[in-house]
Amino acid sequence: MARAKLAGLPQAATTHTRGTAEYRALDAAHHLHPFSDMGTLNQIGSRVIVKANGVYLWDSDGNRIIDGMAGLWCVNVGYGRQELADAAYRQMRELSYYNTFFKTTHPPVIELSALLADLAPEPFNHFFYCNSGSEGNDTVLRIVHRYWATQGRPDKKYVISRRNAYHGSTIAGATLGGMDYMHEQMPAKVDHIVHIGQPYFYGEAPADMTPEAFGLARARELEAKILELGAENVAAFIGEPFQGAGGVIFPPSSYWPEIERICRKYDVLLVADEVIGGFGRTGEWFAHRYFGVSPDLMTLAKGLTSGYVPMGAVAIHDRIARALIDNGEFNHGLTYSGHPVAAAVAIANLKLLRDEGIVERVRHEAGPYFQRCLREAFDGHPIVGEVVGAGLVAGLQLAEDPRARKRFADGAEVGLLCRDFCFNGNLIMRATGDRMVLSPPLVVTHDEIDEIVAKAKTAIDATAKQLGLP
Ligand SMILES: *Cc1c(COP(=O)(O)O)cnc(C)c1O
Repeated sequence: MARAKLAGLPQAATTHTRGTAEYRALDAAHHLHPFSDMGTLNQIGSRVIVKANGVYLWDSDGNRIIDGMAGLWCVNVGYGRQELADAAYRQMRELSYYNTFFKTTHPPVIELSALLADLAPEPFNHFFYCNSGSEGNDTVLRIVHRYWATQGRPDKKYVISRRNAYHGSTIAGATLGGMDYMHEQMPAKVDHIVHIGQPYFYGEAPADMTPEAFGLARARELEAKILELGAENVAAFIGEPFQGAGGVIFPPSSYWPEIERICRKYDVLLVADEVIGGFGRTGEWFAHRYFGVSPDLMTLAKGLTSGYVPMGAVAIHDRIARALIDNGEFNHGLTYSGHPVAAAVAIANLKLLRDEGIVERVRHEAGPYFQRCLREAFDGHPIVGEVVGAGLVAGLQLAEDPRARKRFADGAEVGLLCRDFCFNGNLIMRATGDRMVLSPPLVVTHDEIDEIVAKAKTAIDATAKQLGLP
């Protein structure tokens, strides 16, 4: 294939310099997008995002778009914060890179670790760094196996996850995840990972079951699986406190306490994948607090740096950290573990979340307002079955017959239809199957929430109309 011509790039290419058509042609010629059907996408052409500030994005045609997804659930402090840019700039000039492998460390990673210990719940005082949520979950597996080896119980190998979970897209992350469409394209998966059902009441509960009974039933699938495998062979259970990519699924309140009881009973580590839930999304610093559960490990990424630079981490309970520290070398690490620039940006980001009271505001003000507006707009809507969420994250179930919990037929692609209406209305709202999800930057104002909800309403009304539903 012919190489697309690079027309004279200006010296300081700090802003966009080409027109939309030219960008699209180069993109189609050279860029493979994640999770995309490139044949189709290259025919339509991608939207080129050139600028962002606060909760708004601008495309190369000058359209202003409100970002109801905080990028990919990550831009918690909003776009364009000077404090984060300054932190990166200062750190790059001072110490752009050094590793932490060979008896060395550096101030940013030290300060970040101390700050995280301060912000995280009591038993979390140690942190291992990586570059993404996927690598965080790979690291979780390494820690879990190492931990049980140090306890003289190397047979504890099985990790139990859930169908429709999302834990990333490395081989380990995708194996842990419960997405069939990802598994289908993986001839080999990581061994000793198995799945149980998800606590998705609207979509999967029998008609006559209460949410509480359903939550208990799904949690007890964990117990059944542990007994089937033998508790002596089970190392850990992993779950997102609420499923994000799976459609913002909030489990019934009976679910997490029962999961925790079962994990304790059979001496199985409990891992909370907090990649989306962490750093304020629900109005708590960590989403497991919202559900009242106490994990042994937490996977962190996304909101850790508000997406300004890549960084992930695993928060390690004192008990497990002790075992790792007291038992010789842990044979795991990444060139960029604790990267100084990422660490400096993370510190600046966490300080904004803390010192500007952003998390507090999600909990007491913006979150309740957002949830109330969504419910007012969509309760009783002809194609909305439920609105769930807390803080600044929400899922809207599209349904053919909302009251009967009758979903649209598989392949109806109602979510994608709705997403396209949003996109054309300059709102970013994501579709996962037949659930529409929102997760705006945590700094979103009431006026901006009004705009998001009004645009979502317009899009969902248009979807209903197109489907010929009243
Ligand atoms: C996004 C996500 C991941 C993967 O993070 P990457 O940075 O994309 O590797 C893992 N777990 C959860 C819950 C996520 O939402």
